[in-house]
Amino acid sequence: MPSTVYIARVGDLGKVSLLDATQRLFDDAGLRECIEQDDLTAVKLHFGERGNMAFVAPIFVRRVVDRVKAHGGKPFLTDSNTLYRGSRGNAVDHTTTAIENGFGYATVGAPIVIADGMDGKEYVEVQVNGDHFETVKIGAAAVHADSIVAVTHFKGHEATGFGGVMKNLGMGLGSRAGKQQMHADFLPDVDPDKCTACGECADWCPVDAISIGEVAFTDHGICIGCGECVATCPYSAIAVDWGTDAAKMQEKIAEYAKGALRGKEGKAGFISFLLNITPDCDCWHFSGAPIVPDIGILASTDPVAIEQASLDLVSAAPALADSLKGEKGDKFRALTGVDGTAVLDHAAKLGLGSREYELRALK
Ligand code: SF4
Ligand code: SF4
Repeated sequence: MPSTVYIARVGDLGKVSLLDATQRLFDDAGLRECIEQDDLTAVKLHFGERGNMAFVAPIFVRRVVDRVKAHGGKPFLTDSNTLYRGSRGNAVDHTTTAIENGFGYATVGAPIVIADGMDGKEYVEVQVNGDHFETVKIGAAAVHADSIVAVTHFKGHEATGFGGVMKNLGMGLGSRAGKQQMHADFLPDVDPDKCTACGECADWCPVDAISIGEVAFTDHGICIGCGECVATCPYSAIAVDWGTDAAKMQEKIAEYAKGALRGKEGKAGFISFLLNITPDCDCWHFSGAPIVPDIGILASTDPVAIEQASLDLVSAAPALADSLKGEKGDKFRALTGVDGTAVLDHAAKLGLGSREYELRALK
């Protein structure tokens, strides 16, 4: 039986604002039933790297926080630390960046708790019995929460095609060690004909795996596969052999998402924002131009169905990016060369939800 995904579609809302629609979606899509009195509720989001502006705006998150409180929960905003050098690699930098990006208590109405602690080492091993992992390492604060609402910005991603709910939960709540496990198959190589030895990739690499001579060289013995150099390179000189690795990484992300949701059956809700749909992740210190017009906001209690619906809606939307004009299929695949649907296949196989869905417009 198909799962229901609710949508507040831009252009169909009359005089209802998207902010009010967010609030109504929360209740209509059944997220209120996920929250019980005095629940510690993790609101899982991405605070945005410093310089990025495409993440879900704090004024939307405020509405989610307000609904959690209205249904008796005690919300906190959470994400885990990143692998790479940037502005969110430890709890102090991460919290500072979040506040600079507008997620202060005064604006959003909930405290920030970094899920995997000061340096990414506070995690809980969660049993998932997957094809790749028996257990996964999930940020402790998220594991100890009673319920969870994943607030997701749906957009492109250089390593997984697109970044949606699965990535928000799986990669997003994996501790640093967990992120390394998920990235382990990602090994970048430099094209010497394109490399100008500018050194930007080396500046960004978190483990000094790149040395610069006449061209850049990536040491696969040191590389942790974070993927940051691929998107950093201004000349597209770094690529990954994605033979089977892209699918494997997505499957690992799905297994981590299963771990993030373990013990929260019936206590998890998902809201995806199909606004400002950029080609790249919010982990970047910039935001690219949107590839399609704003579509709207989706909500569901099925993380697979909402992800499938998000992908289908972007595929069906008219392209804004010149390079995508006339593209009829998966725009993210056309952009990145990565088929991101393995995450959906594996998530469905793991029992996280259904790829079959029906879209229901906000009443
Ligand atoms: S070489 Fe690239 S993928 Fe490997 S750790 Fe450095 S930035 Fe990450
Ligand atoms: S960023 Fe690109 S062009 Fe610059 S050194 Fe690295 S691989 Fe070469």
